[in-house]
Amino acid sequence: MCGIVGTISSEPAIDKIYPALIALQHRGQDAAGAVTFEHGFHMKKGNGLVLNVFNPKNLQRLKGSIGIGHVRYPTIGTGTAEDAQPFIITAPYGIALAHNGNLVNYFDLKEDLTDNHLRYLNSNCDAEVILNLLAIELTKMNLRDLEPEKLFSALSKVYKKLIGSFAVVSVIAKKGLLAFRDTHGIKPLVFGKNKNSYCFASESVALDLLGYKRIADINPGEAAFIDNQCVLYKKQIVKNSKKSKATCIFEYVYFARPDSVIDGIGVYEARLHLGKKLGEECLKRKIKPDVVIPIPDTARGAAEMVAEVLEVKHREGLIKNRYIYRTFIMPTQSERIEAVRLKLNPIRSEITGKKVLLVDDSIVRGNTSKEIIALLRSVGAKEVYYGLYSPPIRFPCVYGIDMQTRGEFIARDKSIEEIQTLIGADALIYQTVEGLVKAVGSGSTGFCAACFTGSYPTEISASLLERIEAERMTRKTSGFKE
Ligand code: SF4
Repeated sequence: MCGIVGTISSEPAIDKIYPALIALQHRGQDAAGAVTFEHGFHMKKGNGLVLNVFNPKNLQRLKGSIGIGHVRYPTIGTGTAEDAQPFIITAPYGIALAHNGNLVNYFDLKEDLTDNHLRYLNSNCDAEVILNLLAIELTKMNLRDLEPEKLFSALSKVYKKLIGSFAVVSVIAKKGLLAFRDTHGIKPLVFGKNKNSYCFASESVALDLLGYKRIADINPGEAAFIDNQCVLYKKQIVKNSKKSKATCIFEYVYFARPDSVIDGIGVYEARLHLGKKLGEECLKRKIKPDVVIPIPDTARGAAEMVAEVLEVKHREGLIKNRYIYRTFIMPTQSERIEAVRLKLNPIRSEITGKKVLLVDDSIVRGNTSKEIIALLRSVGAKEVYYGLYSPPIRFPCVYGIDMQTRGEFIARDKSIEEIQTLIGADALIYQTVEGLVKAVGSGSTGFCAACFTGSYPTEISASLLERIEAERMTRKTSGFKE
């Protein structure tokens, strides 16, 4: 999961990119970067939060009315400053590119680029592979004037090589701004317009902030190009890909901000529906708490709905320290466990002597849930039930969420009863896969739910899965969540 933004107008692009990246900071706290173009590319990128990477001096240096930005959450790559995005290539034209996603055939593509195209890649980031493939196809066309149709034709050849998830923004020097989304639309990409200015972003929240009217999501397999006169061209690069749409359903469960709208579905609304379904599961299980408490912040909306269905009180019983980022950014296990205590503090009056139903979005490894339940017991909770508005995570994500190792999942080889015992809950209630899909999409299909079902929207062989897992094991970067 990363965040991307791209904009073109007659005004300084960085004035839009910088606030947009702050709005997208929740999508990656590992690194940030931006590239603008005016008589040449201007770039600033580095490890850290947006506020750490940029300062008034370097922002001033980023001149030009076209540009792209990126916040990184490490997927492929070592998490070094060299892997921070965007990337730039000087020929043809001069191209800058940033992406959100993960190419599952990254290693093969990198090998091919090195061996057959004699290209030296300076990073371990798959954005650099996409950039080089695009450059190769554009070079083959030998174009002086880059007509949109020719650009889309080159892009269609790039699409044929890429397997996995990618949402891309790219500046082609003196030509325009390009954006495209993978065949299944696994990663979100939306665009908006304000007078004579366009903006692409991972989430609509960035458009809201900048005063852009949300026009549409880029469809799966679709590309959009805004030329230097701000004329928009769109093309469905991969035919029929709308039918194989598989947007990451976890965006609605956890990743995206609740005030965003992805593929026409409001994230907050989806979380309310997920809470309703979980509440119905609790009713079936005859769970009767005194109070429903969300694990802040993601589970708030869902918890309200659970309480409404169960007709019990909904209270804020855990207060989050706003200055601690999501625990999944902590690099080692011991640091993660300490982070739970740093992050959450209970309100005793809402917990002591009560039967508490905690509502959370998901469990990956179970460490955080165990810590939180122990915390509630330590302040006198009578019983602690744990309700999850997503199903058990059993399969690795190969599309850019850092939970690529099967061994990481508490639900991989354990029954729900065993997980309940391990985390120390009096009851453990999961959402069903059917409930998840119905709640988010009102019954429509079009989602990737592979981490719950094992059914991947792209081709993925067992050996490829093993290779990705092995690479993940050696990197030992931070995990997605506990
Ligand atoms: S496997 Fe899970 S986290 Fe990964 S893209 Fe699919 S739904 Fe999202």
